[in-house]
Amino acid sequence: MKNSNGMKEIFLSPYKPENTENRIYSMWENSGFFSPDNNTNSKAEPFTIVMPPPNANGNLHAGHALFITIEDILTRFKRMQGFRSLWIPGADHAGFETQVVYEKKLEKEGRSRFGMDPKDLYKEILDFTLENKKNMETQVRSLGASCDWSREKFTLDPDIVKKTQDTFIKMYNDGLVYRGKRTVNWCSKHQTSLSEVETESVEEINPFYYFKYGPFEIGTVRPETKFADKYVVMHPDDKRYSEYKHGQKMMVEWINGPIEATVIKDPVVDMEFGTGVMTITPWHSQVDFELAQKYNLDVEQIIDWRGKLLPVAGEFAGINIKEARPKIVDKLKEKGLLVKIDDKYKNVVKRCYKCNTIIEPQIKDQWFVKMEPLAKKALESVDRGEVKFIPDNYEKIFRYWMNNTIDWNISRQIVWGIPIPAWLKENEATASKEKPEGDGWIKDSDTFDTWFSSGQWPLFVTGYPDGKDFEKYYPTDVMETGHDLIFKWVPRMVIFGLYLSGKVPFNTVYLHGLVNDAKGKKMSKSKGNVVNPLDLTSKYGTDALRMALIVGNTPGTDLALQESKVKAYKLFANKIWNITRFVLSNTENWDAKRPGKIESSDQTTLDELNLLVQDVTSDMDNFRFYLATEKLYHYVWHTFADKIIEQSKEKLKSEDPEVVSSIQYTLTHILETCLTILHPFMPFITEEIWQNLPGKEKEMLMISMWPK
Ligand SMILES: [Zn+2]
Repeated sequence: MKNSNGMKEIFLSPYKPENTENRIYSMWENSGFFSPDNNTNSKAEPFTIVMPPPNANGNLHAGHALFITIEDILTRFKRMQGFRSLWIPGADHAGFETQVVYEKKLEKEGRSRFGMDPKDLYKEILDFTLENKKNMETQVRSLGASCDWSREKFTLDPDIVKKTQDTFIKMYNDGLVYRGKRTVNWCSKHQTSLSEVETESVEEINPFYYFKYGPFEIGTVRPETKFADKYVVMHPDDKRYSEYKHGQKMMVEWINGPIEATVIKDPVVDMEFGTGVMTITPWHSQVDFELAQKYNLDVEQIIDWRGKLLPVAGEFAGINIKEARPKIVDKLKEKGLLVKIDDKYKNVVKRCYKCNTIIEPQIKDQWFVKMEPLAKKALESVDRGEVKFIPDNYEKIFRYWMNNTIDWNISRQIVWGIPIPAWLKENEATASKEKPEGDGWIKDSDTFDTWFSSGQWPLFVTGYPDGKDFEKYYPTDVMETGHDLIFKWVPRMVIFGLYLSGKVPFNTVYLHGLVNDAKGKKMSKSKGNVVNPLDLTSKYGTDALRMALIVGNTPGTDLALQESKVKAYKLFANKIWNITRFVLSNTENWDAKRPGKIESSDQTTLDELNLLVQDVTSDMDNFRFYLATEKLYHYVWHTFADKIIEQSKEKLKSEDPEVVSSIQYTLTHILETCLTILHPFMPFITEEIWQNLPGKEKEMLMISMWPK
């Protein structure tokens, strides 16, 4: 019988990803099957993943390649299992992050955002972001992402802006948002307040100074803030100072001459620390500010918004605090007020996570979210088992953050973001899109912390509150994101999900680790060790990179990305190609039907394959992609190629046609099954081969059924 099983010419030359990937991707995309709407099984269950929207301010990095790969694996696996599989892509305007990138660009051009018309600045950043967004979408496609582009959302889409503002107004009306004076984290370079998660706390060694302050000795690490310190605080039980009474006044010689000091007795002071006496600077410390409120003390700003001393500093006014410190110490020394300096004092210094500038605590009127009642609900939902964490130790971290919240400052003094719909007047503020009645209201010019909108992302992209997808696809199934977002993003999504819809936004949180350089060092532009994932894919193919990112990569752990590993999976792709060539060239005269009789040795081989399928499926169901890929690699290379194919050579030469057709069937079946279960990991080469298998021209592997 003449073969129905001829081998196409393509297999005569080596596999070339560069000739394949764009073509295959276009075929998938044009087929419409990235959208679950085209799943013809009306009873199919949904499976939904929301893509963490990449920041549209630069190229994709290796971390993006990792999460795109993991999410694509899940999406393809579930699609092949018949689910209504939906992966919603997005792009993030990324507020402060993008503004920082853009300010760097301005700096290079010798320009500055200060002095620019905010509208012009906004327009420039918007153009820059939209350009990057386009570029980023191309890169996401090139990594093989089978996401539904027809549902793509951008965090500045008009409906997202509107919904974000609606939430703010709703929270204001529910008493969960308030405007108040509190200490904020101020970056004097970027001239905006920052949330806790936008600062980095580092333990440093700094000199600790002891000064004479009237009859007392006080200690401080920050003499430059001390000009207006006129309250001296000690513990009421401290016997050393029992002769001084609360409220007692005295004149003391200080930096710029004599000032009137008032004694405050409060248990907030640690008697064991230093001399047990401190002076306070309420404008630049939250503890001091709380004391000032408690006793109704004066609160005066010492350092301006640019990090320079104000006129209260007298001769030091206008000097940057860093330069001012030694000068102030010198002056106190000249006056005989310096007692001693401890050079080995360890303290925790907060810095801006973008520019490393020391954060200045400043009192500022800002909008705050009351976190405690919201965090309580989030904890209760985890108690009820509504959210599962992979790896499970992240549940503890989640709980820690939810048990230790402080009110969240959501005002940012930058143009690049969603405007806060609020109006301000002397000592008054209200949340509203329209200007309130009465005179004197001015529009709040601040924008939202970017996490305020991205915290609502799973709701928004599924069409909350009344979009057609909302009922079908919310709550989503898996939130796959970087482990560093366990305290930045994940809790906020849970909080907003519960607050707005009464439901958690996802049932499972899968957290991946960082992708580091080949030596395991964190990639950074300044160190020059950044590996561009697209350089690797153009050299070895996307499938090879995807495998290198997954094999051996357990959830939550950091991965060292070695080029040699990517290269190894390019060789694996070649192996699959060569296996296909062997199978096709040895099945040309076979009638492509399952033979009536399968030889028992072939049956054993098929049973073993079935076990592999069960094993891999179970790994997939349990998010053990690192194991599934390893098993597939070993099976294809060491069992299929090294053993089964080697042993088949004798059988193929057999005089007995039953022996021949049994092994021909076995080889073909193993090849097709391997292509199918490899597809989520190596989508391009498997689809390319599938398209060129005899009789498969009209099928697409992407929507073929996962074997049972
Ligand atoms: Zn900064």
